[in-house]
Amino acid sequence: MHCPFCNAPDTKVVDSRLATEGVQVRRRRECIHCGERFTTYESAELSLPRVIKSDGNRERFEDDKIRRGLVKALEKRPVSSETIEQVISHIMKRLMSEGVREIPSAQIGEWVMEELRDLDQVAYVRFASVYRAFQDVNAFREEVEKLVHATTAK
Ligand SMILES: [Zn+2]
Repeated sequence: MHCPFCNAPDTKVVDSRLATEGVQVRRRRECIHCGERFTTYESAELSLPRVIKSDGNRERFEDDKIRRGLVKALEKRPVSSETIEQVISHIMKRLMSEGVREIPSAQIGEWVMEELRDLDQVAYVRFASVYRAFQDVNAFREEVEKLVHATTAK
């Protein structure tokens, strides 16, 4: 990204955040040469990797899918809509920072679970049980036991 003031080729990103409900990334950049700061808006849709589904099909990333999953898992839990949006922002940032063209849907699911594990354990177990579609009861029990150990270790 060339500096619009002095045309130097090297600028650094000083701040990065999602704008326009996550479809754009707003970046504050600073020119390494002249020190001027400027803002760029980049379309996140273009830089977001495509999602590889478990059947091998590829599809466009949709933050609404994650939102629906989160809302469902967090039903009747003391977590605000604002917090849900923050979780989605985190996941989209991770997606973009991976710098890959395609990403397995399972990886995104793991990130959602990581976020939920810290946020609300009831929602975490709900989401994990649906998402992983546990093959048997033992796998599910193991997951819950890991959770209990993690909690008591804190
Ligand atoms: Zn400059």
